[in-house]
Amino acid sequence: MPRSGTSYKLLYFALVPAIVAAVFLLGGIALRTTLQIEKARQQSVISATLAVASERVDRLDKLVIEQDNVVLAHADLASLKAIGDRWLPTAARETPTVRAILVLDMDNPEHEVAAFASRSPGREDDIFRRVLVGRLFSQMNLTGTTDELRHLHHVLDGQSYLVSYWQRSHLGRRYMIVAWHDVRRIVHDVLPRIYRDIDPGSRMNVIDEEGRIVFGPPIKGGEFTVGRPFPTTLYNWQLQVALTTAEELNQKVENQRFIELAMVTLAGAVALAGLAIVLAGSMKERRLAQLKSDFVANVSHELKTPLALIRMFGEMLLLEKAPTPEKRRQYLQIIMSESERLTALIENVLDFAKVERGKSAYSFEPGDVGEAVARAVEIFAHRAERESMNVSLSISPHLPSAMIDARALELATINLIDNAFKYAKDGGKVEVEVVGKSSQVLIRVRDFGPGIDPDDRERIFERFVRGKNAGEKQVRGSGIGLALVKHIAESHGGEISVHTPDDGKGSLFILALPASTAEPQLRGPVQPAVASGTPQ
Ligand code: ADP
Repeated sequence: MPRSGTSYKLLYFALVPAIVAAVFLLGGIALRTTLQIEKARQQSVISATLAVASERVDRLDKLVIEQDNVVLAHADLASLKAIGDRWLPTAARETPTVRAILVLDMDNPEHEVAAFASRSPGREDDIFRRVLVGRLFSQMNLTGTTDELRHLHHVLDGQSYLVSYWQRSHLGRRYMIVAWHDVRRIVHDVLPRIYRDIDPGSRMNVIDEEGRIVFGPPIKGGEFTVGRPFPTTLYNWQLQVALTTAEELNQKVENQRFIELAMVTLAGAVALAGLAIVLAGSMKERRLAQLKSDFVANVSHELKTPLALIRMFGEMLLLEKAPTPEKRRQYLQIIMSESERLTALIENVLDFAKVERGKSAYSFEPGDVGEAVARAVEIFAHRAERESMNVSLSISPHLPSAMIDARALELATINLIDNAFKYAKDGGKVEVEVVGKSSQVLIRVRDFGPGIDPDDRERIFERFVRGKNAGEKQVRGSGIGLALVKHIAESHGGEISVHTPDDGKGSLFILALPASTAEPQLRGPVQPAVASGTPQ
């Protein structure tokens, strides 16, 4: 069959690698998509966290600038001495973080302090004035648009200073208005207040220029922690935000990735398993097709041989070519036994065909297993004589009855004995026994032939399967006998098995049937052998 051979080759060499490649390709695409989605998710988490951080740093800047505007409103250069009087009464409420307001004379080479108002005058004010004029002033940005609000955030001798300043002119002189913000107060009062409402799911802190935490809890370094410096005020410091929800999201992404990877692997495995099943199925189908075609050839051959013999001996009788009455009888006997064999074969094939079509309907009724087996043994009487075989039958006297289809059981026994004749002729005898054992009736057919190859033992009950010995010895057969016996046994609720007898010679087939009553059926003494050949 070159055509089916070609299609199988195509299946193996083109389709199989194509399917495997497709599975891996699909898996790869799925994995890449997952990774891309994950990356996009991470990016969106980062930008969401950044937005949160920006909003929070702006809160402090806004608060400081609002106070700066109040300060500017009070710093009237026309009445420098009255700045304190105007500002101080409302200072605690309107400008809580401003500790002092100073006005520097910019035209003076020493930048002398022209006005000063402090909420808690003391030694620290004097120190600050000196620090401002002597050291902070040089850090201030005096370039560009001169009258805009600017901030200086600077650390001196371990202390953080925040000042807001504006340049202003009045009556031809230049001044600098300075608001001195109390950084400690910002940390202790303002930050806890403005970040009080922060949702408990997020964690944040503020770190100084050296990375030390000045406010808030420590944050474990994580993928979704972002740092944002305060834009204009405490610009040397940073606000750090880590969203716990982001961590959860991260965990979710991890889990998702794991699940998707597992699914891709599983899908691949299922596809490959499916492929393996399809291939195994197609191979089985192929083997079955081969077995079927062998079966047809074998059956035709089996039919042809007895027919040829019947025809030949029939013709000889017709043409009166039998020299003696003895020969005549012999020819007639051959015709008889060959037609019996034909009948048995045709019955086998017909029953098997019924089984295959699922139509084998047996009619069960309480019956005597021993009788059915005895009838089967009887059929072999002539053949045993002719082939010098000895068939013995023994039926136990205490046999329980069983629900049986007697004809089917007879056919099963015929098949077993026929096989013993075909494959174990060398053994010279067949022992058939019917015994009751616990709640079963056993039909035991034992021969003394070469036995069955262990490799074949498993498969001989499958349809169309023939053992090695069948081919080696060129024994006629179609491979359906034991399959039919198995079907008959199972239809009766029983089973068929093959064993090697204790003495290691030949084979022992046991067909076990369930007994219908526990009461043993009493019968006559053990039956003698019903058929025996004459030893030569
Ligand atoms: P067939 O006899 O037509 O080949 P069966 O289904 O009756 O088909 O038997 C299947 C195979 O089992 C036989 O081909 C043979 O190899 C093996 N077999 C059956 N009975 C015996 C036996 N008594 N001794 C040795 N081999 C046997």
